[in-house]
Amino acid sequence: MRQKSINNILIVGVAFVIFALMMFDRGSVRKYKDSRILMDTLVEITVYGNGKQKLKSSVNEAFDEIKRIENLMSGYISNSEIARINDAGGNALSVSPESAAVIQAAKDVGRLTDGAFDVTLGGLTRLWGFTSESPRVPQKSEIEELLAHTGSDIIEIKNYYNGKQTIVSIRLTDPATTIDLGGIAKGYAIGMAARRLRERGIESALIDAGGDIVVIGDKKGKPFRIGIKSPDDDSVIGVIEASDISIVTSGDYERGFSIGGVRYHHILDPKTGRPARRSRSVTIITKDAILADALSTAVFVMGREKGLKLINSLKGVEAFIVDETNKMFMSDNAGIYIKTGDQ
Ligand code: AMP
Ligand code: MG
Repeated sequence: MRQKSINNILIVGVAFVIFALMMFDRGSVRKYKDSRILMDTLVEITVYGNGKQKLKSSVNEAFDEIKRIENLMSGYISNSEIARINDAGGNALSVSPESAAVIQAAKDVGRLTDGAFDVTLGGLTRLWGFTSESPRVPQKSEIEELLAHTGSDIIEIKNYYNGKQTIVSIRLTDPATTIDLGGIAKGYAIGMAARRLRERGIESALIDAGGDIVVIGDKKGKPFRIGIKSPDDDSVIGVIEASDISIVTSGDYERGFSIGGVRYHHILDPKTGRPARRSRSVTIITKDAILADALSTAVFVMGREKGLKLINSLKGVEAFIVDETNKMFMSDNAGIYIKTGDQ
């Protein structure tokens, strides 16, 4: 009897020590957060873990990675690979395997979405001037002239072996075409930044590039909670709970201008060369950040009907759509992640 109660006391004691150690371990998990303007966007990185110095240097490396990709892929940085492809006057140019892979992914999503995603709209985005000081509604004739030089098939990607290594070359078969990776490069960049964090041993983090999000692991044992913003104000219209995922939103509120009560925004319908009108915002949830980014832009253009049909046919990809009448729609299995107000 006596021996038994001593055993019980011992068991309770050991359990208490383990519990105390666990609490101490939890308590020592630090949060480190920093932000920078990169890719024309406020990029915030938050990491959780041990050792402030390690957290800080990992975050700095992740920012450096985004900067490196911006320098490679921004059409607005002279001498970037994309700027060089655009200026090549119809000649083939050897490029990094990285740029080639992103352009190939863009072509693939272009095919998957029946041309709704089209990275050859660069001439038109510049014409509208969404990123310039003086955006404007162009003349019909100006739009038609540039539309004649669009279509993903214009981009030719070739691999050849030069005896030492495989070289990838890219040629725009129409020299008047301009590539713009604005709808996909940010997804690639945040995906690569997450990869760098993981390589540094980070097991819990959130990268938020103006609503394009990657989360690593979970947040102190619970899924990360990410709010989906209303297209009209900062109110939250849905909450996503997920771990190890990318969540990318394309919205008409992100970039654009208004004239006479009409909003002209940066996501163009490749068929018309004008702002796509079927959606207000589209959020894509999937593991692969580059796919999430390209599909958010594409489904925005396609609209709810075609867009949901496509998303429901893809495994591991979910969507939350606010259509042009401000109604909300979700793909078949999006309920796994999304909690809306009316649920
Ligand atoms: P996102 O914010 O990811 O939807 O990307 C929008 C950006 O992608 C725009 O600022 C343009 O640079 C580019 N873009 C606009 N329309 C399209 C489109 N239909 N397909 C691919 N890229 C586009
Ligand atoms: Mg996108």
